[in-house]
Amino acid sequence: MSLISVGTMAFDAIETPFGKVDKIIGGSATYVAYAASNFIKPVQQISIVGNDFPQEEMDQLTSRGVELDGVEIVPDKKSFFWSGKYHIDMNTRDTLVTDLNVLADFNPIVPESYQGAEFLMLGNLMPSLQLSVIKQLRTRPKLIVMDTMNFWMDLAMDDLKAVLKEVDVLLVNDGEARQLSEEVSLVKAARKILAMGPKFLIIKKGEHGALLFHENHVFFAPALPLEEVFDPTGAGDTFAGGFIGHLAKTKDISFENMKTAIIVGSAMASFCVEKFGPQRMQEITKADIDERIAEFVQLVNFDIDLV
Ligand code: AMP
Repeated sequence: MSLISVGTMAFDAIETPFGKVDKIIGGSATYVAYAASNFIKPVQQISIVGNDFPQEEMDQLTSRGVELDGVEIVPDKKSFFWSGKYHIDMNTRDTLVTDLNVLADFNPIVPESYQGAEFLMLGNLMPSLQLSVIKQLRTRPKLIVMDTMNFWMDLAMDDLKAVLKEVDVLLVNDGEARQLSEEVSLVKAARKILAMGPKFLIIKKGEHGALLFHENHVFFAPALPLEEVFDPTGAGDTFAGGFIGHLAKTKDISFENMKTAIIVGSAMASFCVEKFGPQRMQEITKADIDERIAEFVQLVNFDIDLV
């Protein structure tokens, strides 16, 4: 049983109301790998970095069961760079800089050893590259989950819609769901997006939790009310990693199990936001994760007597 994770490995510069960092490790695939490797090994990574990406970071990932055969290292170029600034509510942010660098010429090649993977996580990346990875897999994975963002909706909407036809689960935030569907109501947006291809849609609402839509069913999971949110960067990718990691571990892709996977994803994301970058993801243990999931169960558990 294995999981392929495709996406960016990057440097980020982040400003939040609580602090500022100029150059820390980031990238969609980095966060997915840190989260998913708590549940499933190997995580087979497909990405690209420049000559500036630290070897220690690669070693950290390898030690967690992340295979890097599909990570291309370009000797004379820089890694993808993203910079963002969060608003005071920490739920919304402005992208200040997106320097594609190595990503501009990326042509992902699926290593032979990755063929046969049963789960595919298409992290946030150019939609044409997400599609290229799907096409290279000789056997269609049991479940394909896709994440994306407004940046690609602005630049490559047609390509994005082509990938949507091929995936099982789409993850977007509420703003992106509205942009993609051109609907204000999230229920109407979900109906339109489900007609574009995916059978399941997850709409992330930051500190207000996440919604799972499938046919006429909808499930809601809150986010854990945290005393301090330090840096939300990567929370969406970490959620995705926890979500698909749980599904891959349990080998069950039913709607019922996706409800549990959303709680697992939410629990993982709640760690991610506690420190800058992936730092907190590097610290947590299985015991921390189990405790956090139990807190979630407490948060949403109630008995009700009908009157
Ligand atoms: P999230 O906060 O979950 O949306 O993920 C933030 C991470 O995504 C950062 O670490 C960035 O390096 C990465 N990122 C930002 N913009 C893009 C983009 N256009 N394509 C791929 N990855 C991106």
